[in-house]
Amino acid sequence: MSSATPADFERITTLVARDPGDRGIAPLLVPGDLEAAVEALAAASRVVIVSGFFIPAANACETDGPPGVWAVREALRALGKEVLIATDTPCTLAFGAAGLEPDFCFDPEAEAAAVAATVEEQGPAAWLAIERVGPGADGKCHNMRGVDITPHTAPLHALFDAARLVGQPTIGVGDGGNEIGMGKVAERVAASVPLGAAIGCRVPCDHLVVAGTSNWGAWGLVAGLALKIGRPLLPTREEADAVLERCVAAGMVDGVTHRRAPTVDGLAPQHHAELLLALQGACHDV
Ligand code: MG
Ligand code: MG
Repeated sequence: MSSATPADFERITTLVARDPGDRGIAPLLVPGDLEAAVEALAAASRVVIVSGFFIPAANACETDGPPGVWAVREALRALGKEVLIATDTPCTLAFGAAGLEPDFCFDPEAEAAAVAATVEEQGPAAWLAIERVGPGADGKCHNMRGVDITPHTAPLHALFDAARLVGQPTIGVGDGGNEIGMGKVAERVAASVPLGAAIGCRVPCDHLVVAGTSNWGAWGLVAGLALKIGRPLLPTREEADAVLERCVAAGMVDGVTHRRAPTVDGLAPQHHAELLLALQGACHDV
């Protein structure tokens, strides 16, 4: 075991919350939540990761989310944990082609109750959403531009509502306020994010990780696990680049530019490389 301190986790929290896209996320940060999320993952023997953000205008899912799923999955597997991936049918082909074959998958037409039943079927697990849109106060899912994408979105948020009801730990990673978990800070989303009142997700989580892009939040969780456990778990830059390239080859697009290119949320590769380097620096003792 390492001797990671709360200050180490706060450093990671601050790093991943860099906001080069100027999305107004700083007020959404919850001090201590990244460390608590890491504790929950470290304590779990099984983790279900929910991701996949479909962009109807591009007829593709976006490059924010899946690379984060890959990094967390590899880290958790290295720690001997069982990892399951969940997405919905609009994203499932691309996830599979990128090496993230879903263990379960629902149609956008699925009933929330049928999705929720998965929690009981799976048994004890920690539930982690990475860049996964969820419904707002009006019951509809919105993208950051305020467009209703409910017809393209399975009600995977019901997993988190159900898990919370039975006391299983839930973690949300997001960068815009419309993702599962952001209900924890719904009033702050409404006050500080453009269109926040309209797009903010009502679904809360136990531990919220707020990041400049959600892949960074996922890396932050991996960095936190590395600090807590005392062994290196972050991907190398080469690995991270290769995963993103695989996602693009699988048909994923940048969520901001809608281009099929190895960028995330409109941010060029150097932004991601710098952030990864900074996180590796924060873990330099492990
Ligand atoms: Mg987002
Ligand atoms: Mg994003």
